[in-house]
Amino acid sequence: MDNVTRHTTEAERFSIARRGLMLVLSSPSGAGKSTIARNLLENDPAFCLSVSVTTRTRRSSEIDGQHYHFRSVRDFEVMRDRDELLEWAEVHGNFYGTPRAQAEEAITNGQDMLFDIDWQGAQQMKQTVGADMVSIFILPPSIGELNARLKRRAEDSDAVIETRLKNARAEIAHWREYDYIVINDDLDNAFREVKSIIAAERLRRDRRPGLFDFISDMLEEDV
Ligand code: 5GP
Repeated sequence: MDNVTRHTTEAERFSIARRGLMLVLSSPSGAGKSTIARNLLENDPAFCLSVSVTTRTRRSSEIDGQHYHFRSVRDFEVMRDRDELLEWAEVHGNFYGTPRAQAEEAITNGQDMLFDIDWQGAQQMKQTVGADMVSIFILPPSIGELNARLKRRAEDSDAVIETRLKNARAEIAHWREYDYIVINDDLDNAFREVKSIIAAERLRRDRRPGLFDFISDMLEEDV
């Protein structure tokens, strides 16, 4: 099955050092971002997840340190004021932030990292990390379909769904700030498109400092 195959990257096949890829995935809730993120982490061992810090209450299905680092507002503010967060934002009344140390270490070591953050975080990270970051916005095929998916999930009351749809429109309005837009009308197709983006981005010349030596050696090769 294609989506469980480990794709060896070009850089790995030739042992060419490359910088890690910082992949930002954003979408309104219900557009399928979590499923795509999970598939990616399961199928591509080069990726690790950036575990955010949040002040929101833990859901029963979540594990502290794995899904989020759950912290008090006071602790969050201390981290923020000590500049320990690469970016932070208030989303739906709670604070969320990306720990800086983990991300910086990953990139320097050539490890790819996935960031499940909103548009405010994506905007801040672009300013801080620049070319190391690639951003993908996952769109639902329509607001009607998003509404239907939220209702099918049956996790929320009508009032909450109403709020989520309002928030979805506000989030979608930021689509131009992303490098790539993937429309999730079919999960397999959407996942395939995300994998294609990653494959191409890993091959970018400026992400592969090891190419210099590789090509210098090639040009000196006697045959
Ligand atoms: P949830 O509470 O449903 O897990 O996440 C709510 C929203 O917060 C999602 O859109 C998610 O992408 C975003 N989010 C999660 N972690 C971070 C973070 O560290 N920074 C920012 N800016 N947004 C985040």
